[in-house]
Amino acid sequence: MSSVLFRNVVKNFGALNVLRSLDLAVPDHKFLALLGPSGCGKTTALRILAGLDMPTAGKVFIGERDVTRLQPRDRDIAMVFQSYALYPQMTVAENIGYPLWIRGTPEPGRKAKIGEVAAILEIGHLLDRRPRQLSGGQRQRVALARAIVRDPAAFLMDEPLSNLDARLRLTMRGEIKRLCQRLSATTIYVTHDQVEALTMADLVAVMHGGELQQMAPPIDIYDRPANRFVATFVGNPP
Ligand code: ADP
Repeated sequence: MSSVLFRNVVKNFGALNVLRSLDLAVPDHKFLALLGPSGCGKTTALRILAGLDMPTAGKVFIGERDVTRLQPRDRDIAMVFQSYALYPQMTVAENIGYPLWIRGTPEPGRKAKIGEVAAILEIGHLLDRRPRQLSGGQRQRVALARAIVRDPAAFLMDEPLSNLDARLRLTMRGEIKRLCQRLSATTIYVTHDQVEALTMADLVAVMHGGELQQMAPPIDIYDRPANRFVATFVGNPP
């Protein structure tokens, strides 16, 4: 079963044709890396899935639902961007619990759930701190905890590690991969970094010029690239 589906999605910004006719089916519970050079349309595709942009044509599905016309809050997704966008005046616990609070989840359930996701991300000892008292890696963990606290059907990340230094990026790659294996969500992870995509994902979808070039497990993308562009981009040129 596909849990995330783009069907003939076209996106134009004025005269600029950013997505040509994107067809992409991500199987349930899989971690998909959406990989391609800067400007190829990755973020646009993710924003359309999240409901932050409307497609010019085509449809997007999450689970069996056509969500194309739904508001972002009705789509059962969570999103993490490269800037963590934590609420500076709130504690870590309040930041993590915010998505539950705005949906009216009562206090005891909220507290238990905050504790649970904080334990998964090993930030249980930081719950009373404010974001400014945290390191970059800790902030990123809080942003991840806040994203998964509602058990979303789809978990979307847009270059979440690009603001971290090289060493932390390496650690967080492993952590995000482990986290997604524990979640029941289908994950879409946007990156322009081949190594990140090939080492973290179950499936890699390579985009170029607003079109999908190939979708396959990392090993097949590397060993059996569909065309010259994919081969060169993943570092295994013909
Ligand atoms: P990527 O994530 O692969 O780097 P984007 O989806 O961000 O690519 O952008 C694809 C293209 O669409 C780029 O040429 C970008 O300048 C353009 N673009 C993105 N958003 C807008 C917008 N709101 N208005 C006009 N052009 C946009």
